[in-house]
Amino acid sequence: MGEIAYINGKVLAEGRFQDDLTVITHEGLITRLPTAGENLAAGAQVVDLGGDYLLPGFIDTQVNGGGNVLFNESPDVEGIRTIAGAHQQFGTTGLLPTLISDDLEVIHQGVAAVDEAINSGVPGVLGIHIEGPFLSQERRGVHDARKLRKLTAEIISDLQPLENGCSVLTVAPETMEPGMIRELTAKGFRVCAGHSNADYEVIKNAIEQGLCGFTHLFNAMSQLGAREPGVVGAALDSDTTWCGIIVDQHHVSPASARIAYRCIGPKKLMLVTDAMPPVGSPDTDFTLLGKHVTVKNGVCIDSDGTLAGTALDMSTALRNMINITGCSLAEACMMASHGPAEFLGLQNCLGRIEVGFNADFVVVSPDLGVQRTIIGGREVWAR
Ligand SMILES: [Zn+2]
Repeated sequence: MGEIAYINGKVLAEGRFQDDLTVITHEGLITRLPTAGENLAAGAQVVDLGGDYLLPGFIDTQVNGGGNVLFNESPDVEGIRTIAGAHQQFGTTGLLPTLISDDLEVIHQGVAAVDEAINSGVPGVLGIHIEGPFLSQERRGVHDARKLRKLTAEIISDLQPLENGCSVLTVAPETMEPGMIRELTAKGFRVCAGHSNADYEVIKNAIEQGLCGFTHLFNAMSQLGAREPGVVGAALDSDTTWCGIIVDQHHVSPASARIAYRCIGPKKLMLVTDAMPPVGSPDTDFTLLGKHVTVKNGVCIDSDGTLAGTALDMSTALRNMINITGCSLAEACMMASHGPAEFLGLQNCLGRIEVGFNADFVVVSPDLGVQRTIIGGREVWAR
């Protein structure tokens, strides 16, 4: 692959939009950012962006499925390839396939499959998110009550993070013994609180042990009260942790999303989709661990009427966040790309358009519709 020059774009670089920059990539990396008028190398392939925005590609840390595939049902390389491919049309250039509560055997299969996908170069796979089964029965939401279990020392010694990618583990800290979060963190997991009924003090202690984030803030956790700040209060009160948030207009009310934005700001609030198989697929029905789920009015609900993940994609989450909070496009990109990259420890290669960074981009039109998605300098999707 020779040099590629992206010209005539509004490039998000150094935190602002610049319309006089050309972005040059070579072998999957950003190599130069010359200003317009400088001579380009002869032989460079030129991509004319026609005035569209060139943004760092979106990074989604919670993806259960896409393209009619659920990761729990297909914990293998082909399943991962299909899911990652289905999200590319929405500007997602990096994601974590996410397992909901299941047997430990499925977790082992999922970890092995993501390792294999990363080692064999499936585009856009950054790691795995293991959501459960060490969760609260009271706050399990759509997770299967029979799959939940207590974490034991044996399981910890058995549970291995990925060889090469990021391993995120969502747990309910109140169900764990003292020191377990520290042990998991020391093993290389990035531990988040979610599906948790913990009180504020338990979360404060978990943060001291290394807890680094919160999974779908507001959903499936103890809420903020006057004398009981709960998991939500601990999340809003912390300035060291990250919070994933589902901004699909159904899981979190616009007012709650604005409150989170005001408390946390764009640097540590991450847009996530929590996407299910219908995203990037014409199919609207799927089976979630034996339960029939259908998409109605943009919401995934099971036969009991419980919300079962989302039909959300990252570009819609980005537009929703801008509409709800009035934040700028640059701030929204921080929540869709730079913040998640930093959460994953990948802030030196992903999430920004800067020399030396990966050539992972999304091109969006002035009305924020996705036009092209580029991973490692290769166009993987175009309108
Ligand atoms: Zn969940």
